[in-house]
Amino acid sequence: MSVPTITLNTGRTIPQLGFGVFQIDPADTVEAVTKALEIGYRHIDTAQMYGNEREVGEAIARSGIPREEIFVTSKLNNGFHRPEDAQKAFAETLEKLGVEQVDLFLIHWPLPTRYDGDFVSTWRTMASFADDGRAASVGVSNFQPAHLARIIDETGVIPAVNQVEVHPYLTNEAVRAADAEHGIATEAWSPIAQGGVLDDPVITEIAEAHGVTTAQATLRWHVERGDIVFPKSVTESRMRENFDIFGFSLTPDEVGRISALDRGEDGRTGPNPDEFDYIPD
Ligand code: NDP
Repeated sequence: MSVPTITLNTGRTIPQLGFGVFQIDPADTVEAVTKALEIGYRHIDTAQMYGNEREVGEAIARSGIPREEIFVTSKLNNGFHRPEDAQKAFAETLEKLGVEQVDLFLIHWPLPTRYDGDFVSTWRTMASFADDGRAASVGVSNFQPAHLARIIDETGVIPAVNQVEVHPYLTNEAVRAADAEHGIATEAWSPIAQGGVLDDPVITEIAEAHGVTTAQATLRWHVERGDIVFPKSVTESRMRENFDIFGFSLTPDEVGRISALDRGEDGRTGPNPDEFDYIPD
């Protein structure tokens, strides 16, 4: 089974399907990532905030798979937006992951109400990680169209990706359109809304027509729309199920019917990026 790749605006390629490790306990992370790599996943999405970068690195090292065959993403934690803090935190990410270069490093949240609204100097610092080669690509997460416009206008540096909440109940079209306009790849987090869309009658009907599960139909919907996904599971059968989405395809009508399930802001399961101001202790 071969996972398609998306070419980023940096010229680097990223597997369109990966494995997310949010809410995987550090004690369980080596086992989960090891299993994911055995199944065939070659793209792991972690973050400083998840507290499991070291375990992700350990699983990669133990796997024996050549480093260049695994795409690894991490993200800058919310407390480290000041340039000197970002520098230090990024060095720690490389050390914990046990890599000389991370494939993708993102600003996790824009925090527009923090740091006097200055996420631009954070973005400049991120760009320096790409310049010095320690990040193959840099990007952002949870950036609204206005946040994207501002960093691009003020620095001239276009993020490689914008990782935002996208699933059938929050299709996030305005952000996806802004990403596309700038040549930024959209990464869809919580692609199955943490399970919240799996009993939907429309998705159930479409899944049954293809003889697949609702999780598979939903992940395939993302793929058909061109977004990058990395569902999380600690359950081996689900990890296998989520990886097995390339043996069928949805019709344009089916894609449209799932997109029409959008509930706008009511469908959001996570925080609103314009308001979110959480800084871990
Ligand atoms: P997902 O939408 O991937 O859903 C994960 C949940 O669904 C888990 O409870 C899992 O259970 C369950 N599940 C997974 N596969 C199946 C299946 N086939 N059938 C039934 N249930 C299933 O949620 P996440 O929030 O974890 O999002 C995925 C990734 O996105 C994260 O791990 C992280 O990498 C990223 N993310 C980024 C954010 C950001 O701000 N940038 C925010 C949130 C997520 P179980 O594990 O028990 O099997």
